[in-house]
Amino acid sequence: MPKVMVVGAGAVAQVTVCKLSRRPDLFPEIVLASRNVEKCKAIAERLPHARIIPEAVDADQVADTVALLEKHRPALLLNLALPYQDLPLMEACLQAGVDYLDTASYEPPDIPFYEYKYQWAYQEQYEKAGLMAVLGIGFDPGVTNAFVAYAAKHIFDEIHYLDIVDCNAGDHGRPFATNFNLEINLREITQPGRYYENGKLVEIPALSRAEDVRFPEIGVRKAYLIYHEELESLTKHFPTLRRARFWMTFSESYLMHLRAFMNVGLTRIDPIEYEGHPVVPIKFLQKLLPDPASLAPTYTGWVSIGVQLRGVYQGKPRTAFIYTNIRHEWAYQDCGSQAVAYTAGVPPAIAAELMVQGTWKKPGVWNVEQLDPDPLLERLPEAGLPWKVVLDYPLDFTDVPE
Ligand code: NDP
Repeated sequence: MPKVMVVGAGAVAQVTVCKLSRRPDLFPEIVLASRNVEKCKAIAERLPHARIIPEAVDADQVADTVALLEKHRPALLLNLALPYQDLPLMEACLQAGVDYLDTASYEPPDIPFYEYKYQWAYQEQYEKAGLMAVLGIGFDPGVTNAFVAYAAKHIFDEIHYLDIVDCNAGDHGRPFATNFNLEINLREITQPGRYYENGKLVEIPALSRAEDVRFPEIGVRKAYLIYHEELESLTKHFPTLRRARFWMTFSESYLMHLRAFMNVGLTRIDPIEYEGHPVVPIKFLQKLLPDPASLAPTYTGWVSIGVQLRGVYQGKPRTAFIYTNIRHEWAYQDCGSQAVAYTAGVPPAIAAELMVQGTWKKPGVWNVEQLDPDPLLERLPEAGLPWKVVLDYPLDFTDVPE
């Protein structure tokens, strides 16, 4: 029976392992490896019915991961550590002959800008080795890519405009906290806003543009234009897209704290010297603020993530909205998690099923939209993430030609 190895034991990994553990027929053993083995043991203790093997690994060291892969011989490695580990883990999988997936694209530690070029460079080597790598299979990126692929397959002849809209309207009761790894989250938000228009990447200052967006069950919220990695792969794989943007909501309290952190240099990613020691301010800030997984027990409210699309079908203009709504309380009830980690952690567990069963089997390095979206989307509702399609949706973004 195929074994899987999960690397990373944070908020997202906890959800994925919870879901994998419910398929003992497919995953009789789950190796859970992270920098701090105690976190792996704590997850294993919360899932006493599952056979989880905790291991310690520094995923930046290719040889260490290769040794662990050779010890356990899994069919698939799920990278749920941080984007910095994408390249060493892809390299280790290649050397050990193991399939690979992750939920976030590689970003060099000293350059806060996601780009797929580093991982796409592995395409030929994976193909030749007969191995498969699936990139960015969380929710956004991940399910959002599958929504666009589904729309291209079933709803449109051509898609011209894409706006991805993401709203966390939940309340965790803390003055400031991020919903996934703080360093990765704040690097993403504090970099310039970027979007694709007519084949070019357009750049605007960070958090300088916001629009009112209506979210199901939530109502109208101000959403800010930020850069997100799926824009790069989606515009490459759907060249009919004339424009692709990503919008995310933030509460006033969140923005007030974020601006203060930015103003005093606490979001800096370069080391400063403090009493003879190098300190990276953003890593120091992370130590002071709540661990995203710890928000779960008291978190209430909705999360809504979807894609608003405009294009043509049979020669006529058409619009569509495809989205998922989920409550933090539901995620807690199902896997003891908050909804942001849950939306990111459920899709890799489904992808693991599809990969070990051979439903998704294609040697090479793939973004989610290059794979058949149907089997993933069919399994989402039962796995806890219901989704809906609304055709002829009155889009929030009116700055496009009719
Ligand atoms: P956490 O910080 O909670 O967890 C990360 C885990 O990776 C920790 O257990 C950490 O170990 C471990 N880790 C870090 N470096 C190494 C290393 N060198 N070797 C081994 N283990 C390591 O992060 P999240 O769970 O919030 O996020 C995980 C990933 O999911 C991130 O890449 C994030 O960008 C992505 N994500 C994707 C989303 C999507 O929808 N696509 C949405 C949200 C997140 P330690 O405990 O020692 O620090």
